[in-house]
Amino acid sequence: MTPGPPRTATVVGSGPNGLAAAVVLAEAGLRVTVVEAADTVGGGTRSAGLMVPGVVHDLCSAAHPLAQATPFFHRYGDRLADHGLAFATADVDMVHVLDAGRTASLHTGVSRTAAGFGDARDARAWRASVGWSATHADDIAAEFLQPVLHLPRHPLLFAGFGVNTALPATWSRRRFRTAEARALTAGIAAHAFTPLTRPGSSAAGALLTTAGHRYGWPVAVGGSQAIADALVGLLESLGGTVVTGTPVTDLGEVADADVVLLDTSVGTAASILGPRLPERVGRAWRRFRRGPAVAKVDYVLDGDVPWTAPDARRAGTVHLGGTAEQITAAEQDCWDGRLPSRPFTLVCQQYLADPSRSMVVDGRQLNPLWAYAHVPAGWDGTPQQTFELVTAQIEDAAPGFRDRIVDHVASPPAVVEAHNRNNAGGEISGGANDLVQLLARPRFSPDPYSTGIPGVYLCSSSTAPGGGVHFMCGMNAAVRALG
Ligand SMILES: Cc1cc2nc3c(=O)[nH]c(=O)nc-3n(C[C@H](O)[C@H](O)[C@H](O)COP(=O)(O)OP(=O)(O)OC[C@H]3O[C@@H](n4cnc5c(N)ncnc54)[C@H](O)[C@@H]3O)c2cc1C
Repeated sequence: MTPGPPRTATVVGSGPNGLAAAVVLAEAGLRVTVVEAADTVGGGTRSAGLMVPGVVHDLCSAAHPLAQATPFFHRYGDRLADHGLAFATADVDMVHVLDAGRTASLHTGVSRTAAGFGDARDARAWRASVGWSATHADDIAAEFLQPVLHLPRHPLLFAGFGVNTALPATWSRRRFRTAEARALTAGIAAHAFTPLTRPGSSAAGALLTTAGHRYGWPVAVGGSQAIADALVGLLESLGGTVVTGTPVTDLGEVADADVVLLDTSVGTAASILGPRLPERVGRAWRRFRRGPAVAKVDYVLDGDVPWTAPDARRAGTVHLGGTAEQITAAEQDCWDGRLPSRPFTLVCQQYLADPSRSMVVDGRQLNPLWAYAHVPAGWDGTPQQTFELVTAQIEDAAPGFRDRIVDHVASPPAVVEAHNRNNAGGEISGGANDLVQLLARPRFSPDPYSTGIPGVYLCSSSTAPGGGVHFMCGMNAAVRALG
């Protein structure tokens, strides 16, 4: 590494955070190389034809409510669009199915969502609690998609929204009396993979609901891969390059760059840095905990899912798991290491928003379906058990679903990990989202991206603000690296 302002950078890992960091550094004039272990770019934003040629599956992330709300997207969104990125939403953004007769739907409009509860008091409570935050979605995203330890630009918003995020999700939902409104909030909060009874368990749900009301619950046209491809296109237009099929195992392999950013898990970063890692940082990283996991199934369907609920037939994303109380119990089970009998399950029907994902073959409309269930960390189920677990949840809400399955690929946690070394044990959010790790991610510091080694930073979802495709771990780390 040369003295003076950095002129070259290497980013290890091409997930959305690694690529976002690379773009910020390249725009600042650095010569940037991204080194990726896998044979394809994108990390959690990859898509592929898994079974039937032309039917496109998202291998990891599917729905992107946060992406457009972020400072990164406000800065680069137009240029990403020039490189082919577009988002699309289905008629219904997201629906939560409680049982055969009851659903609650989230729409871009706050009033439309509130009206759907069929209860004037809950409609008022929804508008009062969510309406104001949706109006300020961009400012809220800018405040909360960075380390908690910072000087807020919008102190009143920070304090007001901060109270919401600090509450246990089981408390936040007390403001509603219908099972529908309560289940909708519980399902969105469950994206944090943390017990809903714990302080801080409202945080992810509050942010997703806010962004969802502003930008919907969209998918990337052509597949989530379009996000990675647009980032790579923008990076290359700024002079950067990407090398694939090259796992980095030691800092020495990339030490010729002035700055190095690691889009890796904390464990991988510790092993790459080895004895160079200062003991105080290493100690904090060793305390950093992983959360529960996912078990995923990709299907090719002949036609659509025969949902009983009409809104589910038009929804981009479907949440399954029953009432708020059932979801709370299932999330607690996962956290405690027990496989729930009825796990919280997410289903994405991206093709409803983006028909380019489907194919007509021999007169049959073949559609991709994406689904995963929350399971305990490292759950050792087989692909067949994974298939049965997830399929049973969908069949319950859509009798006859099994008859529509043309083919499937089931990925228990071990396969999710094999697919991306950042997802150890099948965990997908870069580390548990409990209150401690919301405040200290991966350690308590205004600069949690610093590894303590000059010029070397961590930029993955194991840093603030955590998991999801929002680019902000990468952008925040790159800004720190630029000083
Ligand atoms: C099944 C699944 C479903 C998901 N669904 C959603 C969703 O719908 N919406 C959403 O917003 N988020 C979703 N996520 C989460 C989202 O994908 C992640 O939060 C996001 O991708 C994290 O980005 P990242 O850049 O930090 O890391 P990653 O996307 O994990 O990328 C890290 C990259 O670094 C590479 N790498 C790691 N170690 C090395 C090394 N030593 N050398 C070289 N390269 C290395 C990896 O191969 C990988 O390509 C999902 C994730 C999974 C797995």
